[in-house]
Amino acid sequence: MTDVSIFTRIMNGEIPSDKVYEDDDCICIKDISPKAPVHLLLIPRKQIPRLVDATAEDQALLGQLMIKAGDIARENGVGDAFRLIVNNGEEAGQTVFHLHLHILGGKQFTESQL
Ligand code: C5P
Repeated sequence: MTDVSIFTRIMNGEIPSDKVYEDDDCICIKDISPKAPVHLLLIPRKQIPRLVDATAEDQALLGQLMIKAGDIARENGVGDAFRLIVNNGEEAGQTVFHLHLHILGGKQFTESQL
């Protein structure tokens, strides 16, 4: 049994967050340590630890998250200019093992910032 993640605890209302969107499948919150003027985290309610742990069963959910990310980015004032990042695994910088999409915008990014 996987431990309850900090994001699940946020969804359960045990830990406060600045929520910008929620539906039956996901929530979107402001990152507490923003790396850009707009830095949001889009998180599925299902606690999939890493992207590579997603299975065929999660295909529709993952597609839904990608589309929702674009909608939420626009609703939060970044128009069509934003980055989506998924860190997969510790070496890639993942610190919370509950799949999430970083939505970053509101500034000029350069390739070297990858
Ligand atoms: O991709 P990674 O796992 O590193 O991202 C986790 C993100 O969750 C971090 O950007 C961190 O600032 C954010 N976070 C948050 N609220 C928390 C705990 C972590 O916004 N309570």
